[in-house]
Amino acid sequence: MSEIVLKGVPAAPGISIGPAYILDKQELIVPQREILETEIPIEIARFEEALIKTREEIAVLQKKISDDMGGQHAQIFEAHLLVLEDRTLIEDVIRQIRSTKQSAEFVFSGVLKKYVKVFSNIQDEYLRERTSDVSDIGRRVLKNLIDENKLLELDHLNGELVIIAHDLSPSDTASMFNRSILAFATDIGGRTSHTAIMAKSLGVPAVVGLKDATLRISNQDTVIVDGRMGLLIVNPAPKTLEIYKSEKSRIQELRHRFDDIKDLPATTLDGHKIDLLANLELPEEVPMIRQHGAEGIGLYRTEYFYMNRVDLPTEEEQFVAYKEVARKMAPYPVTIRTLDLGGDKFISSLQIPRDMYPFLGWRALKFCLARPDIFKMQLKAILRASVHGKIRMMYPMVSGPGELRSVNKILTEVKQGLDDDKIHYDTDMQVGVMIEVPSAVMTADLLSKEVDFFSIGTNDLIQYTLAVDRVNEQMADFYEPYHPGVLRLIKMTVDAGHKRKISVGLCGEMCSEPLQALLLIGLGVDQFSMSPVGMLQIKKMIRSVKFEDAQRLARAALKMATAREIEELCKLRLAELAPNILNPEK
Ligand code: PEP
Ligand code: MG
Repeated sequence: MSEIVLKGVPAAPGISIGPAYILDKQELIVPQREILETEIPIEIARFEEALIKTREEIAVLQKKISDDMGGQHAQIFEAHLLVLEDRTLIEDVIRQIRSTKQSAEFVFSGVLKKYVKVFSNIQDEYLRERTSDVSDIGRRVLKNLIDENKLLELDHLNGELVIIAHDLSPSDTASMFNRSILAFATDIGGRTSHTAIMAKSLGVPAVVGLKDATLRISNQDTVIVDGRMGLLIVNPAPKTLEIYKSEKSRIQELRHRFDDIKDLPATTLDGHKIDLLANLELPEEVPMIRQHGAEGIGLYRTEYFYMNRVDLPTEEEQFVAYKEVARKMAPYPVTIRTLDLGGDKFISSLQIPRDMYPFLGWRALKFCLARPDIFKMQLKAILRASVHGKIRMMYPMVSGPGELRSVNKILTEVKQGLDDDKIHYDTDMQVGVMIEVPSAVMTADLLSKEVDFFSIGTNDLIQYTLAVDRVNEQMADFYEPYHPGVLRLIKMTVDAGHKRKISVGLCGEMCSEPLQALLLIGLGVDQFSMSPVGMLQIKKMIRSVKFEDAQRLARAALKMATAREIEELCKLRLAELAPNILNPEK
């Protein structure tokens, strides 16, 4: 077997080496097998046993997910159970076993295909979305019917594996939490897609946008995932393996090299302090965040709460989750971002056609304004939780003061309701906005008068400024954080915020990249919020440079014309100012 090197988009740093497991959603091929008249009851019994066994498996899986991650995540499987209990489907299979005298697996796979076809052609988007649940459950039943049941399944995995998938859904990545997954690699996705963000919070290397990796790898092939360079090496030659093994141990040794500064402030040599906060996707990450010495949570992406389930989260559920996070992080602040639905963050429990959610579609506040019932429920939960710690709240994707006023009006109504019911909340809770679209930058002077803080979301600001889809691997080379247009917008936002003396933070992926972080310090960003994994490296960088040098770098960068020149300049300066920072982990 010869070595194959596949190039993708680096999504989460680090190196992993191990056997591949293809998270395969394709159909199983079921050979035709005729049965005798006398075997009919046996086949029917086998089919019924397979259904029971599958139900048991789902129950175990549900319990595991519920224990590991909380009850609401386990509800992903409710739809699966409904399919298993569908009388029409079951009776159809039994009838056909009798009439066609074919094996249970052959009949079932035929009936299943028919169902999948019907579901995938349904007009109603919500029901169409259920197609993958139907195929998923079908595969599980088939595996319990087919003897050569040797295929690996994600929920039975106990060895350490590299997960290879066409795409990973939020429920796939969430169910990897607390598992011994070595790394993952996907055919599609860009640097800031939710899969990349999730990989970082799980602390595993990832490469996305590999185009056809799933077709070029077999289960159990040895693979190397190089999350720094965005490479997936299949069946590595002994020499390659040797190089990567020593590189991996070198990285491992380096991993703890900054642990000694965990409790020290992120202050530059000339005394300029940057607040270092963490991004949070799942409440289960809080202990890890504390371990990395974060001074709070700068972005709590609450969409994950809404995603892995078949219904909407209740106010009470949200209240309990927000309260717990706030309590565990106290006295540090927790910045809860209100629902940012849309783009790559799709919520299946709402029966809204998916094509209404593209990046320029019905997203974030536009959705919340149209569905005040859902929005109010979240605002109420946040406000109620605000007395249990230090909660700040921010709105995503604000386009300008008009939209801000509309959502603040809803906030006032919710506060009024709580006052009427004599329910306590923090009346001084800070409310900020994310600056993620160019119109918010252009109106930042106006917005700054009406909010307590800004948080720049560069993941989106870059895509909306450069007209480059952030999750499209074909566009990865055009997605330029160093673009002069992007840097100028950041500078304008900082200036507008500082003029009104409000804090300007940044919570996109840019601030976890040392070169870009140096530039951001120079541009005047006060606070970084990032995945905790790279936090100490950034702190070390901050503690190794002078603010005035970073400012000089930013001034020079703002005069340059291309992203490439700016990146080169940053590399040069960081190598001069803090040569110990650029390490193999990125
Ligand atoms: C951003 O856009 O930079 C951001 C932090 O938000 P998200 O990645 O969740 O869209
Ligand atoms: Mg965003």
